[in-house]
Amino acid sequence: MSKAWLKELYLVALLVAGLGLVFGFFGLWAWGMIAGLVLYLLHTWRQLHRFAHWLQVGRLRNPPESWGVWGHLFAQYDRWQKRYYSRKKRLGKVIREFRDSTSAMPDGTLVLDADLCILWFNEAAESMLRLSSQRDIGQPILNLVRSPVFRDYVQAQQYDHPVELTSPQDDNVLLSARLIPYGRAQYLLLFRDVTRIQRLQSMRRDFVANASHELRSPLTVISGYLQALPEAEGLPREWQQPIREMQRQTERMSGLVEDLLELSRLETETSDASSEQAVDMDELINRVIQSTRQADEGDHPIEFLPKASNPLLGVERELHSAFSNLIANALRYSPSAAPVVVSWSRDEQGRGIFEVEDQGVGIDAKHLPFITQRFYRVDSARGEGKSGTGLGLAIVKHVLQRHGARLEIDSVLGEGSVFRCIFPPGRIAESRRPVPPSTDSHETETTNLLNQAVKK
Ligand code: ADP
Repeated sequence: MSKAWLKELYLVALLVAGLGLVFGFFGLWAWGMIAGLVLYLLHTWRQLHRFAHWLQVGRLRNPPESWGVWGHLFAQYDRWQKRYYSRKKRLGKVIREFRDSTSAMPDGTLVLDADLCILWFNEAAESMLRLSSQRDIGQPILNLVRSPVFRDYVQAQQYDHPVELTSPQDDNVLLSARLIPYGRAQYLLLFRDVTRIQRLQSMRRDFVANASHELRSPLTVISGYLQALPEAEGLPREWQQPIREMQRQTERMSGLVEDLLELSRLETETSDASSEQAVDMDELINRVIQSTRQADEGDHPIEFLPKASNPLLGVERELHSAFSNLIANALRYSPSAAPVVVSWSRDEQGRGIFEVEDQGVGIDAKHLPFITQRFYRVDSARGEGKSGTGLGLAIVKHVLQRHGARLEIDSVLGEGSVFRCIFPPGRIAESRRPVPPSTDSHETETTNLLNQAVKK
Protein backbone atom coordinates (compact mmCIF):
# COMPACT_ATOMS: atom_id res chain seq x y z
CA MET A 1 0.00 0.00 0.00
CA SER A 2 1.39 3.42 -0.87
CA LYS A 3 2.16 6.10 1.72
CA ALA A 4 -0.77 8.23 0.62
CA TRP A 5 -3.24 5.40 1.20
CA LEU A 6 -1.77 4.68 4.63
CA LYS A 7 -2.12 8.38 5.57
CA GLU A 8 -5.75 8.28 4.45
CA LEU A 9 -6.35 5.17 6.58
CA TYR A 10 -4.79 6.87 9.62
CA LEU A 11 -7.00 9.91 9.05
CA VAL A 12 -10.22 7.85 9.03
CA ALA A 13 -9.06 5.83 12.03
CA LEU A 14 -8.06 8.98 13.94
CA LEU A 15 -11.34 10.73 13.26
CA VAL A 16 -13.53 7.75 14.13
CA ALA A 17 -11.49 6.70 17.20
CA GLY A 18 -10.90 10.30 18.47
CA LEU A 19 -14.53 11.38 18.26
CA GLY A 20 -15.65 7.96 19.60
CA LEU A 21 -13.43 8.56 22.69
CA VAL A 22 -14.55 12.18 23.22
CA PHE A 23 -18.23 11.23 22.90
CA GLY A 24 -17.48 8.11 24.98
CA PHE A 25 -17.04 10.30 28.07
CA PHE A 26 -20.75 11.01 27.80
CA GLY A 27 -21.58 7.40 27.05
CA LEU A 28 -22.24 8.24 23.38
CA TRP A 29 -19.24 6.55 21.79
CA ALA A 30 -21.32 5.22 18.83
CA TRP A 31 -22.48 8.74 18.00
CA GLY A 32 -18.90 9.90 18.21
CA MET A 33 -17.79 7.31 15.67
CA ILE A 34 -20.69 8.26 13.34
CA ALA A 35 -19.68 11.92 13.70
CA GLY A 36 -16.11 10.91 12.70
CA LEU A 37 -17.37 9.14 9.59
CA VAL A 38 -19.60 12.11 8.67
CA LEU A 39 -16.63 14.44 9.03
CA TYR A 40 -14.56 12.20 6.74
CA LEU A 41 -17.45 12.17 4.24
CA LEU A 42 -17.55 15.95 4.29
CA HIS A 43 -13.81 16.07 3.72
CA THR A 44 -14.14 13.69 0.76
CA TRP A 45 -17.06 15.65 -0.66
CA ARG A 46 -15.01 18.89 -0.45
CA GLN A 47 -12.05 17.30 -2.23
CA LEU A 48 -14.37 16.00 -4.97
CA HIS A 49 -15.81 19.46 -5.38
CA ARG A 50 -12.32 20.98 -5.67
CA PHE A 51 -11.37 18.33 -8.22
CA ALA A 52 -14.47 19.00 -10.32
CA HIS A 53 -13.86 22.74 -10.12
CA TRP A 54 -10.25 22.34 -11.16
CA LEU A 55 -11.27 20.22 -14.15
CA GLN A 56 -13.81 22.89 -15.09
CA VAL A 57 -11.48 25.88 -14.93
CA GLY A 58 -9.04 24.05 -17.08
CA ARG A 59 -5.50 22.94 -17.22
CA LEU A 60 -3.90 26.39 -16.84
CA ARG A 61 -4.28 26.40 -13.05
CA ASN A 62 -2.12 24.34 -10.75
CA PRO A 63 -3.91 21.38 -9.11
CA PRO A 64 -5.58 22.08 -5.73
CA GLU A 65 -3.28 21.73 -2.72
CA SER A 66 -4.05 18.56 -0.81
CA TRP A 67 -2.47 15.65 0.95
CA GLY A 68 -3.15 11.93 1.41
CA VAL A 69 -4.94 10.08 -1.37
CA TRP A 70 -6.46 13.23 -2.81
CA GLY A 71 -3.12 14.99 -3.04
CA HIS A 72 -1.73 11.89 -4.76
CA LEU A 73 -4.69 11.79 -7.19
CA PHE A 74 -4.43 15.50 -8.05
CA ALA A 75 -0.69 15.25 -8.70
CA GLN A 76 -1.05 12.09 -10.82
CA TYR A 77 -3.87 13.55 -12.89
CA ASP A 78 -1.93 16.79 -13.36
CA ARG A 79 1.08 14.81 -14.68
CA TRP A 80 -1.07 12.89 -17.16
CA GLN A 81 -2.76 16.03 -18.34
CA LYS A 82 0.55 17.82 -18.88
CA ARG A 83 1.92 14.84 -20.79
CA TYR A 84 -1.26 14.65 -22.94
CA TYR A 85 -1.18 18.36 -23.78
CA SER A 86 2.50 18.37 -24.65
CA ARG A 87 1.96 15.36 -26.96
CA LYS A 88 -1.04 17.07 -28.52
CA LYS A 89 1.02 20.21 -29.05
CA ARG A 90 3.79 18.19 -30.68
CA LEU A 91 1.36 16.37 -33.01
CA GLY A 92 -0.37 19.64 -33.87
CA LYS A 93 3.03 21.08 -34.81
CA VAL A 94 3.84 18.05 -36.99
CA ILE A 95 0.46 18.31 -38.74
CA ARG A 96 0.92 22.06 -39.29
CA GLU A 97 4.40 21.48 -40.68
CA PHE A 98 3.12 18.68 -42.95
CA ARG A 99 0.33 20.92 -44.24
CA ASP A 100 2.71 23.84 -44.77
CA SER A 101 5.22 21.67 -46.62
CA THR A 102 2.59 19.95 -48.82
CA SER A 103 0.98 23.33 -49.48
CA ALA A 104 4.32 24.62 -50.69
CA MET A 105 4.89 21.54 -52.87
CA PRO A 106 4.70 22.21 -56.62
CA ASP A 107 2.96 18.82 -57.04
CA GLY A 108 -0.77 18.64 -56.55
CA THR A 109 -1.43 16.63 -53.37
CA LEU A 110 -4.79 15.28 -52.25
CA VAL A 111 -5.72 13.14 -49.26
CA LEU A 112 -8.53 10.70 -50.04
CA ASP A 113 -10.55 8.44 -47.77
CA ALA A 114 -11.27 4.73 -48.28
CA ASP A 115 -14.04 5.58 -50.81
CA LEU A 116 -11.65 7.86 -52.70
CA CYS A 117 -13.51 10.99 -51.57
CA ILE A 118 -11.43 14.14 -51.04
CA LEU A 119 -10.49 14.97 -47.45
CA TRP A 120 -7.88 17.62 -48.10
CA PHE A 121 -5.84 19.11 -50.99
CA ASN A 122 -3.03 21.64 -51.35
CA GLU A 123 -2.85 24.82 -53.42
CA ALA A 124 -1.12 23.14 -56.38
CA ALA A 125 -3.95 20.57 -56.64
CA GLU A 126 -6.45 23.40 -56.35
CA SER A 127 -5.02 25.20 -59.37
CA MET A 128 -4.20 22.04 -61.40
CA LEU A 129 -7.69 20.59 -61.06
CA ARG A 130 -9.56 23.87 -60.34
CA LEU A 131 -10.82 22.56 -57.02
CA SER A 132 -12.69 24.56 -54.44
CA SER A 133 -12.54 23.60 -50.79
CA GLN A 134 -16.19 24.56 -50.22
CA ARG A 135 -17.52 22.65 -53.21
CA ASP A 136 -15.21 19.67 -53.61
CA ILE A 137 -14.25 18.42 -50.13
CA GLY A 138 -16.09 15.11 -49.69
CA GLN A 139 -16.52 14.60 -53.47
CA PRO A 140 -15.32 11.31 -55.05
CA ILE A 141 -12.15 12.02 -57.03
CA LEU A 142 -13.48 10.01 -59.99
CA ASN A 143 -16.32 12.56 -60.34
CA LEU A 144 -13.80 15.35 -60.72
CA VAL A 145 -11.11 13.63 -62.81
CA ARG A 146 -13.13 11.83 -65.45
CA SER A 147 -10.28 10.56 -67.64
CA PRO A 148 -10.87 6.88 -68.62
CA VAL A 149 -7.11 6.23 -68.23
CA PHE A 150 -7.27 7.46 -64.65
CA ARG A 151 -10.45 5.48 -63.92
CA ASP A 152 -8.79 2.28 -65.24
CA TYR A 153 -5.68 2.99 -63.16
CA VAL A 154 -7.69 3.47 -59.98
CA GLN A 155 -9.85 0.41 -60.60
CA ALA A 156 -6.87 -1.83 -61.46
CA GLN A 157 -5.42 -1.07 -57.99
CA GLN A 158 -1.85 -1.39 -59.30
CA TYR A 159 -0.32 1.69 -57.78
CA ASP A 160 3.39 0.87 -58.20
CA HIS A 161 3.72 3.19 -61.17
CA PRO A 162 2.18 6.55 -62.01
CA VAL A 163 -0.27 6.98 -64.86
CA GLU A 164 -0.21 9.80 -67.42
CA LEU A 165 -3.37 11.64 -68.39
CA THR A 166 -4.32 14.90 -70.06
CA SER A 167 -5.33 17.56 -67.59
CA PRO A 168 -9.12 17.78 -67.12
CA GLN A 169 -8.69 21.59 -67.41
CA ASP A 170 -6.34 21.92 -70.38
CA ASP A 171 -5.77 19.45 -73.22
CA ASN A 172 -2.23 20.76 -73.76
CA VAL A 173 -1.14 19.84 -70.25
CA LEU A 174 -0.01 16.31 -69.47
CA LEU A 175 -0.26 15.18 -65.86
CA SER A 176 1.31 12.22 -64.13
CA ALA A 177 -0.87 10.86 -61.32
CA ARG A 178 0.12 8.43 -58.59
CA LEU A 179 -2.06 7.01 -55.86
CA ILE A 180 -0.26 5.98 -52.67
CA PRO A 181 -2.22 3.96 -50.08
CA TYR A 182 -1.29 4.66 -46.46
CA GLY A 183 -2.64 4.27 -42.91
CA ARG A 184 -6.05 2.67 -42.56
CA ALA A 185 -7.44 2.70 -46.12
CA GLN A 186 -6.45 6.28 -46.87
CA TYR A 187 -4.79 7.50 -50.02
CA LEU A 188 -2.40 10.21 -51.02
CA LEU A 189 -2.94 11.27 -54.64
CA LEU A 190 -0.08 13.14 -56.30
CA PHE A 191 -0.38 15.04 -59.57
CA ARG A 192 2.69 16.31 -61.40
CA ASP A 193 2.80 18.43 -64.52
CA VAL A 194 5.02 16.47 -66.94
CA THR A 195 4.27 18.47 -70.10
CA ARG A 196 7.78 19.92 -70.32
CA ILE A 197 9.52 16.59 -69.66
CA GLN A 198 7.30 14.92 -72.22
CA ARG A 199 8.03 17.63 -74.78
CA LEU A 200 11.79 17.30 -74.20
CA GLN A 201 11.58 13.52 -74.50
CA SER A 202 9.65 13.76 -77.71
CA MET A 203 12.21 16.30 -79.08
CA ARG A 204 14.99 13.88 -78.17
CA ARG A 205 13.18 10.98 -79.82
CA ASP A 206 12.55 13.04 -82.96
CA PHE A 207 16.20 14.10 -83.07
CA VAL A 208 17.47 10.50 -82.75
CA ALA A 209 14.97 9.30 -85.35
CA ASN A 210 15.88 12.09 -87.82
CA ALA A 211 19.63 11.71 -87.30
CA SER A 212 19.41 7.93 -87.77
CA HIS A 213 17.29 8.37 -90.87
CA GLU A 214 19.76 10.87 -92.36
CA LEU A 215 22.70 8.55 -91.63
CA ARG A 216 21.10 5.64 -93.41
CA SER A 217 21.67 6.78 -97.03
CA PRO A 218 25.35 7.83 -96.72
CA LEU A 219 26.07 4.58 -94.91
CA THR A 220 24.47 2.55 -97.72
CA VAL A 221 26.66 4.34 -100.26
CA ILE A 222 29.85 3.87 -98.20
CA SER A 223 29.18 0.19 -97.59
CA GLY A 224 28.41 -0.32 -101.30
CA TYR A 225 31.82 1.13 -102.28
CA LEU A 226 33.58 -0.80 -99.53
CA GLN A 227 32.12 -4.04 -100.84
CA ALA A 228 33.23 -3.29 -104.37
CA LEU A 229 36.70 -2.06 -103.38
CA PRO A 230 38.51 -5.38 -102.74
CA GLU A 231 37.75 -6.44 -106.32
CA ALA A 232 39.19 -3.23 -107.74
CA GLU A 233 42.27 -3.66 -109.93
CA GLY A 234 45.63 -2.52 -108.66
CA LEU A 235 44.57 -2.29 -105.02
CA PRO A 236 47.70 -2.71 -102.90
CA ARG A 237 47.60 -5.90 -100.73
CA GLU A 238 48.21 -4.00 -97.51
CA TRP A 239 44.84 -2.28 -98.05
CA GLN A 240 42.85 -5.55 -97.90
CA GLN A 241 42.87 -5.74 -94.10
CA PRO A 242 41.91 -2.08 -93.42
CA ILE A 243 39.10 -2.37 -95.98
CA ARG A 244 37.75 -5.49 -94.27
CA GLU A 245 37.84 -3.61 -90.96
CA MET A 246 36.05 -0.65 -92.56
CA GLN A 247 33.39 -3.04 -93.89
CA ARG A 248 32.89 -4.49 -90.41
CA GLN A 249 32.56 -1.08 -88.83
CA THR A 250 30.11 0.16 -91.48
CA GLU A 251 28.03 -2.98 -90.92
CA ARG A 252 28.01 -2.19 -87.22
CA MET A 253 27.01 1.38 -87.85
CA SER A 254 24.20 0.24 -90.15
CA GLY A 255 23.01 -2.15 -87.44
CA LEU A 256 23.12 0.68 -84.93
CA VAL A 257 21.15 3.00 -87.19
CA GLU A 258 18.54 0.29 -87.87
CA ASP A 259 18.20 -0.47 -84.14
CA LEU A 260 17.92 3.24 -83.28
CA LEU A 261 15.20 3.66 -85.90
CA GLU A 262 13.37 0.59 -84.60
CA LEU A 263 13.60 1.83 -81.02
CA SER A 264 12.36 5.33 -81.81
CA ARG A 265 9.50 3.84 -83.85
CA LEU A 266 8.52 1.67 -80.89
CA GLU A 267 8.69 4.69 -78.60
CA THR A 268 6.76 7.11 -80.77
CA GLU A 269 4.09 4.98 -82.44
CA THR A 270 1.12 4.29 -80.22
CA SER A 271 0.14 0.64 -80.19
CA ASP A 272 -2.68 0.17 -82.61
CA ALA A 273 -5.12 -2.70 -82.23
CA SER A 274 -5.69 -2.77 -86.00
CA SER A 275 -2.07 -3.81 -86.67
CA GLU A 276 -2.41 -6.75 -84.29
CA GLN A 277 -3.22 -10.22 -85.49
CA ALA A 278 -3.18 -13.81 -84.27
CA VAL A 279 0.47 -14.62 -85.00
CA ASP A 280 1.26 -18.25 -85.78
CA MET A 281 4.11 -18.71 -83.30
CA ASP A 282 5.32 -21.95 -84.82
CA GLU A 283 5.78 -20.34 -88.22
CA LEU A 284 7.23 -17.09 -86.80
CA ILE A 285 9.79 -18.80 -84.53
CA ASN A 286 10.92 -21.12 -87.32
CA ARG A 287 11.37 -18.10 -89.60
CA VAL A 288 13.40 -16.24 -86.95
CA ILE A 289 15.57 -19.31 -86.31
CA GLN A 290 16.13 -19.70 -90.06
CA SER A 291 17.41 -16.14 -90.48
CA THR A 292 19.55 -16.09 -87.31
CA ARG A 293 20.98 -19.48 -88.27
CA GLN A 294 22.09 -18.08 -91.63
CA ALA A 295 23.81 -15.13 -89.92
CA ASP A 296 25.42 -17.56 -87.44
CA GLU A 297 26.74 -19.66 -90.34
CA GLY A 298 25.70 -22.87 -88.56
CA ASP A 299 28.07 -22.24 -85.68
CA HIS A 300 25.57 -23.36 -83.01
CA PRO A 301 22.83 -26.01 -83.02
CA ILE A 302 19.47 -24.29 -82.50
CA GLU A 303 16.53 -26.35 -81.36
CA PHE A 304 12.89 -25.32 -81.30
CA LEU A 305 10.57 -27.04 -78.80
CA PRO A 306 6.97 -26.13 -79.61
CA LYS A 307 5.13 -27.12 -76.41
CA ALA A 308 2.00 -25.18 -77.40
CA SER A 309 0.45 -24.37 -80.74
CA ASN A 310 -1.59 -21.36 -79.63
CA PRO A 311 -1.22 -18.25 -81.74
CA LEU A 312 -0.23 -15.00 -79.99
CA LEU A 313 -2.22 -11.79 -80.47
CA GLY A 314 0.30 -9.13 -81.40
CA VAL A 315 2.21 -7.20 -84.05
CA GLU A 316 4.17 -9.77 -86.02
CA ARG A 317 6.91 -7.40 -87.15
CA GLU A 318 7.64 -6.30 -83.59
CA LEU A 319 7.58 -9.85 -82.22
CA HIS A 320 9.95 -10.93 -85.00
CA SER A 321 12.35 -8.16 -83.98
CA ALA A 322 12.23 -9.06 -80.25
CA PHE A 323 12.64 -12.81 -80.78
CA SER A 324 15.50 -12.30 -83.29
CA ASN A 325 17.34 -10.12 -80.78
CA LEU A 326 17.02 -12.74 -78.04
CA ILE A 327 18.13 -15.63 -80.26
CA ALA A 328 20.95 -13.56 -81.79
CA ASN A 329 22.20 -12.71 -78.27
CA ALA A 330 22.08 -16.38 -77.22
CA LEU A 331 24.27 -17.24 -80.24
CA ARG A 332 26.55 -14.25 -79.80
CA TYR A 333 27.28 -14.90 -76.14
CA SER A 334 27.75 -18.68 -76.42
CA PRO A 335 30.96 -20.47 -77.39
CA SER A 336 31.08 -22.24 -80.74
CA ALA A 337 28.87 -25.37 -80.95
CA ALA A 338 27.09 -24.61 -77.65
CA PRO A 339 23.40 -25.42 -78.19
CA VAL A 340 20.55 -22.91 -77.97
CA VAL A 341 17.01 -24.06 -77.18
CA VAL A 342 13.96 -22.00 -78.10
CA SER A 343 10.49 -22.91 -76.85
CA TRP A 344 6.89 -21.69 -76.95
CA SER A 345 4.57 -22.97 -74.22
CA ARG A 346 1.68 -22.07 -71.92
CA ASP A 347 1.91 -22.19 -68.14
CA GLU A 348 -0.80 -23.34 -65.72
CA GLN A 349 -2.17 -19.76 -65.54
CA GLY A 350 -2.70 -19.76 -69.29
CA ARG A 351 0.15 -17.30 -69.97
CA GLY A 352 2.26 -17.68 -73.12
CA ILE A 353 5.97 -18.27 -72.52
CA PHE A 354 8.58 -17.69 -75.23
CA GLU A 355 11.92 -18.92 -73.92
CA VAL A 356 15.50 -18.83 -75.20
CA GLU A 357 17.99 -20.92 -73.28
CA ASP A 358 21.73 -20.95 -73.90
CA GLN A 359 24.87 -22.39 -72.36
CA GLY A 360 26.92 -19.28 -72.95
CA VAL A 361 28.92 -16.90 -70.82
CA GLY A 362 25.99 -16.03 -68.52
CA ILE A 363 25.47 -12.72 -66.73
CA ASP A 364 26.45 -11.74 -63.21
CA ALA A 365 23.30 -11.03 -61.10
CA LYS A 366 24.49 -7.48 -60.39
CA HIS A 367 24.08 -6.54 -64.08
CA LEU A 368 20.58 -8.01 -64.52
CA PRO A 369 18.60 -4.92 -63.40
CA PHE A 370 20.38 -2.79 -66.01
CA ILE A 371 20.87 -4.90 -69.11
CA THR A 372 17.65 -3.76 -70.79
CA GLN A 373 18.88 -0.15 -70.69
CA ARG A 374 20.12 1.29 -73.95
CA PHE A 375 23.81 0.80 -74.64
CA TYR A 376 24.32 -1.08 -71.39
CA ARG A 377 26.90 -3.74 -71.93
CA VAL A 378 28.05 -6.17 -69.28
CA ASP A 379 31.55 -6.08 -70.63
CA SER A 380 32.41 -4.67 -74.02
CA ALA A 381 35.26 -7.16 -74.32
CA ARG A 382 32.83 -10.12 -74.21
CA GLY A 383 31.42 -11.98 -77.13
CA GLU A 384 34.76 -12.58 -78.81
CA GLY A 385 34.64 -9.29 -80.65
CA LYS A 386 31.12 -10.00 -81.95
CA SER A 387 29.52 -7.33 -79.75
CA GLY A 388 26.17 -6.01 -80.90
CA THR A 389 24.69 -2.53 -80.82
CA GLY A 390 23.78 -2.49 -77.12
CA LEU A 391 20.16 -1.79 -78.10
CA GLY A 392 18.86 -5.35 -78.58
CA LEU A 393 17.37 -5.86 -75.11
CA ALA A 394 16.00 -2.30 -75.03
CA ILE A 395 14.05 -3.19 -78.19
CA VAL A 396 12.89 -6.47 -76.59
CA LYS A 397 11.70 -4.59 -73.49
CA HIS A 398 9.72 -2.06 -75.56
CA VAL A 399 8.10 -4.71 -77.72
CA LEU A 400 7.07 -6.68 -74.65
CA GLN A 401 5.68 -3.57 -72.95
CA ARG A 402 3.57 -2.88 -76.02
CA HIS A 403 2.20 -6.41 -75.74
CA GLY A 404 1.50 -6.21 -72.00
CA ALA A 405 4.24 -8.79 -71.47
CA ARG A 406 7.38 -8.85 -69.37
CA LEU A 407 10.91 -10.19 -69.58
CA GLU A 408 12.33 -12.58 -67.00
CA ILE A 409 16.02 -13.46 -66.98
CA ASP A 410 17.68 -16.36 -65.16
CA SER A 411 21.41 -16.47 -65.58
CA VAL A 412 24.44 -18.04 -63.99
CA LEU A 413 27.84 -16.61 -64.80
CA GLY A 414 29.83 -19.08 -66.85
CA GLU A 415 26.92 -21.53 -67.21
CA GLY A 416 24.31 -19.86 -69.38
CA SER A 417 21.11 -17.85 -69.44
CA VAL A 418 17.39 -18.22 -69.92
CA PHE A 419 15.48 -15.25 -71.35
CA ARG A 420 11.73 -15.68 -70.86
CA CYS A 421 9.03 -13.48 -72.41
CA ILE A 422 5.78 -13.88 -70.46
CA PHE A 423 2.62 -12.89 -72.35
CA PRO A 424 -0.70 -12.39 -70.48
CA PRO A 425 -3.45 -15.03 -71.01
CA GLY A 426 -5.59 -12.42 -72.81
CA ARG A 427 -3.08 -12.43 -75.69
CA ILE A 428 -3.13 -16.19 -76.23
CA ALA A 429 -5.58 -17.33 -78.88
CA GLU A 430 -7.11 -20.79 -78.93
CA SER A 431 -5.15 -23.32 -80.90
CA ARG A 432 -6.73 -24.89 -83.96
CA ARG A 433 -4.15 -27.59 -84.50
CA PRO A 434 -2.17 -30.06 -82.44
CA VAL A 435 1.28 -29.20 -81.08
CA PRO A 436 3.70 -29.53 -84.03
CA PRO A 437 6.68 -31.84 -83.71
CA SER A 438 10.12 -30.44 -82.99
CA THR A 439 11.83 -29.15 -86.15
CA ASP A 440 15.51 -29.59 -85.53
CA SER A 441 17.56 -32.65 -86.20
CA HIS A 442 19.72 -31.81 -83.22
CA GLU A 443 16.71 -32.23 -80.91
CA THR A 444 17.60 -35.23 -78.79
CA GLU A 445 21.26 -34.46 -78.78
CA THR A 446 20.66 -30.88 -77.64
CA THR A 447 18.07 -31.83 -75.04
CA ASN A 448 20.52 -34.28 -73.54
CA LEU A 449 23.22 -31.63 -73.48
CA LEU A 450 20.93 -29.14 -71.73
CA ASN A 451 19.70 -31.73 -69.26
CA GLN A 452 23.27 -32.49 -68.35
CA ALA A 453 23.97 -28.82 -67.87
CA VAL A 454 20.92 -28.38 -65.63
CA LYS A 455 21.89 -31.38 -63.51
CA LYS A 456 25.35 -29.90 -63.07
P1 ADP B 1 24.20 -6.16 -77.37
O1 ADP B 1 23.84 -5.62 -78.69
O2 ADP B 1 25.49 -5.61 -76.81
O3 ADP B 1 24.09 -7.62 -77.30
P2 ADP B 1 21.83 -6.13 -75.82
O4 ADP B 1 20.96 -5.01 -75.37
O5 ADP B 1 21.22 -7.14 -76.71
O6 ADP B 1 23.11 -5.49 -76.44
O7 ADP B 1 22.38 -6.87 -74.53
C1 ADP B 1 22.93 -6.10 -73.47
C2 ADP B 1 24.03 -6.86 -72.79
O8 ADP B 1 23.47 -7.98 -72.11
C3 ADP B 1 25.02 -7.45 -73.75
O9 ADP B 1 26.05 -6.53 -74.01
C4 ADP B 1 25.53 -8.68 -73.04
O10 ADP B 1 26.59 -8.33 -72.20
C5 ADP B 1 24.36 -9.09 -72.17
N1 ADP B 1 23.63 -10.24 -72.77
C6 ADP B 1 22.50 -10.18 -73.51
N2 ADP B 1 22.09 -11.42 -73.84
C7 ADP B 1 22.97 -12.30 -73.28
C8 ADP B 1 23.10 -13.73 -73.25
N3 ADP B 1 22.24 -14.51 -73.86
N4 ADP B 1 24.13 -14.22 -72.55
C9 ADP B 1 25.00 -13.44 -71.91
N5 ADP B 1 24.96 -12.09 -71.90
C10 ADP B 1 23.96 -11.51 -72.58
